[in-house]
Amino acid sequence: MVEIQNNQKIKKNNAIIIGGGIAGIYTAILLQEKGYIVSLIEQRKFLGGRTYSVKKSLQSQYDNGQHLLMGCYQNLLQFFKKIGSLSKINFQDSFSVKIIDKTGTTGIIRDTKFLPFGLMLLISLLKYPYIGFQEKLSAIFTLVKMKFINRKKPKYQSFSFSEWLEDNGQSKNVIEKFWDLVILPTLNDHVSNVSADMGFMVFQESVLRGNRYVKLGFPTGTLDEVIAIPGSKFIENNGGNIYLGNSVIKLLYEDNKISTVELRDGTKLSADIIISAIPSNSLYNILPDELQSHKSFSILPKIEHASIVNIHIWLNTKIMNDQFINIIDSPLQWIFNKSLQDNKYQALDISISDSKNLLQKTTAEIIDLVFSELKDIFPGFNINFVEKYKIIKERKATFRCTPNSKKYRLTNISPVDNLYIAGDWVDTGWPSTMESAALSASNVVNEIESNNKNK
Ligand SMILES: Cc1cc2nc3c(=O)[nH]c(=O)nc-3n(C[C@H](O)[C@H](O)[C@H](O)COP(=O)(O)OP(=O)(O)OC[C@H]3O[C@@H](n4cnc5c(N)ncnc54)[C@H](O)[C@@H]3O)c2cc1C
Repeated sequence: MVEIQNNQKIKKNNAIIIGGGIAGIYTAILLQEKGYIVSLIEQRKFLGGRTYSVKKSLQSQYDNGQHLLMGCYQNLLQFFKKIGSLSKINFQDSFSVKIIDKTGTTGIIRDTKFLPFGLMLLISLLKYPYIGFQEKLSAIFTLVKMKFINRKKPKYQSFSFSEWLEDNGQSKNVIEKFWDLVILPTLNDHVSNVSADMGFMVFQESVLRGNRYVKLGFPTGTLDEVIAIPGSKFIENNGGNIYLGNSVIKLLYEDNKISTVELRDGTKLSADIIISAIPSNSLYNILPDELQSHKSFSILPKIEHASIVNIHIWLNTKIMNDQFINIIDSPLQWIFNKSLQDNKYQALDISISDSKNLLQKTTAEIIDLVFSELKDIFPGFNINFVEKYKIIKERKATFRCTPNSKKYRLTNISPVDNLYIAGDWVDTGWPSTMESAALSASNVVNEIESNNKNK
């Protein structure tokens, strides 16, 4: 498109962004700010990607699963600021997590804003009831040691975090009851499956940087209200086009460029630049044969994924007062109180990471398990309290950060001249998180800009 401004012809570049998750929405917005005309294509009838809400009725919605932020999610917070959602995130004053077991023992790990570098967190570990005194001292010593490790050394990608912990004197008990407790919800995988560098990353970027970075943030509205609605408003108000319910089925390739983007309904689009903001397996599927066999792309199917199962339960009475709890000896892992303000009714979201054991189970089997665990966790719990429930199985919730898997994560720049890549799985140095998705958007736009300058 050509526009006339001050008697000068200014060419506005246009961009097609494929995928309407956080990475795609934020890329579209940042490109609009650089003067691009954007078209965002999303296969589903709504934006949001893996952060989406399900309509329960016209008035009420619930999310596919609990999404937590941390203070260190700087790029995501920047995205929320731009679309006016920052006020919809409620951060803890200080990091605090309550961990209970079925005998009623309670442990709290907390930080404070009054002491630097997570010192309070280390002190609170001394009162943590599930590990012995020697184990506590050894865990604290290991955390301090970790602070000074250069995690970017390639050797740390080649073995698991649990191997490193074992080599550093961590007992089976402390690995299970402390280290895995942090890694499982943050990396959606167990310590034995994640690479050591990713394990270090989790602690170095949050716990060991201090309260501002480790404290947890909760969306106060649904994900739809926080991400999809304000995101689409921003794009459309700035002249962008959003195509919903229409997937890209093929990228056509000519002279080392993507010449055409073909949609399911037969529409053919072209643009100066194309940005893929879809998961690695989805990108692989839409590449033409000659690119699927290219050495950069042929590795994409090697990226593995892990699931998350969320069980939403609506009760006619209140059984839980905390905002959220972790249950150390239960398959239910985490329970979030979704109706803090409500004194009569209660909605709970039970979030189970790396939930492959549940994927094959029927709804009845999962619900039986959940009810029996709830009886142990909340002694007054009665099945008659339950008004309804809904199970959401996200089979490919996150990509896995297994040892030696970093090499499968592509950079933002592809070998094809006008094709760029964003998405949480791109090599941002972060695990599969909303922050990685937002960071990938910011990085891809910087790469596009610097490529333009060099032309
Ligand atoms: C249940 C659950 C809980 C989670 N909890 C947390 C959490 O607490 N904290 C956290 O930081 N992260 C969490 N995550 C991870 C986080 O949601 C993701 O890392 C992030 O949303 C990924 O964003 P993305 O834009 O990279 O990809 P996606 O959100 O996957 O977006 C990609 C989009 O592309 C679309 N698409 C795919 N193929 C095509 C095609 N051919 N044509 C058009 N469109 C296409 C998809 O429909 C999708 O909308 C959780 C994930 C799940 C599932």
